[in-house]
Amino acid sequence: MKMQSELGVTIQRKAPTKLHPFTKFFRGFETVPTVRRLFGKQTKRVLGALKVEFFSARFGYMGTSDIDGHLLISTHHLADSEFRTVYLDIVHELCHVRQFRKGRPLFYPKLSYVDAPSEIEAYRLTIKEGQRIGMTRRQLVDYLKVEWISPAEHRRLARRCGVGVKRSRARAHRRRLKK
Ligand SMILES: [Zn+2]
Repeated sequence: MKMQSELGVTIQRKAPTKLHPFTKFFRGFETVPTVRRLFGKQTKRVLGALKVEFFSARFGYMGTSDIDGHLLISTHHLADSEFRTVYLDIVHELCHVRQFRKGRPLFYPKLSYVDAPSEIEAYRLTIKEGQRIGMTRRQLVDYLKVEWISPAEHRRLARRCGVGVKRSRARAHRRRLKK
């Protein structure tokens, strides 16, 4: 563990991260056809080895580490968001897990969120899954309305996912988390 002493104080610069087995919190995803298509015969093994880190800051929802491919999940999102939102978010992140395993970048710092190839692929997959579980076009358009994208970006993302709308009237489906 790297220690650094300056200004009369010492800071330990490496902190442990508590990781939990994905399957302790999320069961049955290995039977979802969309997830099986992602990982094929390795589905059970990949999900069995997947780890989750929970964080309790009152912002953010879910993400995938581009260092080791583990999931990061907000405890507030997990506790309070609609079931289908959490479900689709997990499918979305599993797409990123696959991208990570293929050695593809998850983040494109020079591109807008809705233009990143990693996000377009993950959202397309998620919208297909939403259609499979019977969600309406309106619900899916609302699902895509996350508060960190503009109305124009929302329209672009919806169009790319095949649920395009002429005007963006959707309200953010997610509860706005205040700091
Ligand atoms: Zn994503």
